[in-house]
Amino acid sequence: MRLFGRSSESETATGEALARTRRSWFGRISDALRGNDVGPELWESLEEVLIGADTGVETTFEVLDRIRATDPSSADEVRDGLRRELVAILDAPAGAGRLWGPGAVDPPPQPAVVLVVGVNGTGKTTAIARLAYAYGEDGKRVLAAAGDTFRAAAIDQLRTWSERIGFDIVSHQQGADAAAVAFDAAEAAQARGHDIVLVDTAGRLHNKQHLLDELSKMRRVIERQLGRGPDEVVLVLDATTGQNGLSQARAFTEAVEVTSVILTKLDGSAKGGIVFAVASQLGLPVRFIGTGDGPGDLAPFDPAAFVDALLATPEAVPQSADA
Ligand code: GDP
Repeated sequence: MRLFGRSSESETATGEALARTRRSWFGRISDALRGNDVGPELWESLEEVLIGADTGVETTFEVLDRIRATDPSSADEVRDGLRRELVAILDAPAGAGRLWGPGAVDPPPQPAVVLVVGVNGTGKTTAIARLAYAYGEDGKRVLAAAGDTFRAAAIDQLRTWSERIGFDIVSHQQGADAAAVAFDAAEAAQARGHDIVLVDTAGRLHNKQHLLDELSKMRRVIERQLGRGPDEVVLVLDATTGQNGLSQARAFTEAVEVTSVILTKLDGSAKGGIVFAVASQLGLPVRFIGTGDGPGDLAPFDPAAFVDALLATPEAVPQSADA
């Protein structure tokens, strides 16, 4: 799959990952818009669906107010307005990263460094493996740094992925200094000519100060070694955790300057509205979405393709996606 932009392959993957939310939440938008009356009942149904799908109350009201302000006279006009406003929300955050999105430098820095942060269990290790796989398919040399030194399982898991997919890894013992792992990885990548370094980090949240200290230290050693900080700090967020996941994510955005988001497990979520909450409440751009449980199941995030898939009528979903 291409790493960026809209392709028929990424559209299919996005469409299939959203089958569940279309059946349970967003499909109801099509039902509500089936009649041609634009009245209180329609606005109420839209409100209920958007809030129920984790879009967030404030964002929902803003979206609907903006559509209402255009004084739509038919359900079709409401649908067009909804599409326009939802895409606008997703397009709004530019992100401060140098690797993905509008701030991307061309050619990318070499080695490019991505710090991957997020709560344990959100799919952080899997996301690193998927990025490694996608970059590998793109002909890039990938090095992963096992920077979650808190859990032996995290180091083992990353090593297993590196053997399975075929990317290089730098790891230390459990309990080692995570910043030392980041330093060794940056140095090794420079010496051995890797294109991209994916740095895993600890996902524990019980002590925010410790998290802050550790992430800042990792950032500092990368800065010292490369003359610049990480090119992206990507937050991995589990779509099935909804608003609760968002408040956990805030701990990371307060600890480190996050530049982008990978939203995992969209295929397992009935509430695709979380994407809008990420953009509007966290002010961060989503760059990739998890669309299944295989190594290739990471799709580039394209706002228009995403909203089109979300608003497609459930009948239009291919049979295989409904299984
Ligand atoms: P970590 O603790 O954050 O490193 O989480 P892991 O990478 O170990 O992932 C936790 C679980 O979520 C694993 O069973 C993964 O297979 C699963 N997982 C991760 N991403 C996705 C996804 O996009 N879709 C599905 N269905 N499962 C996922």
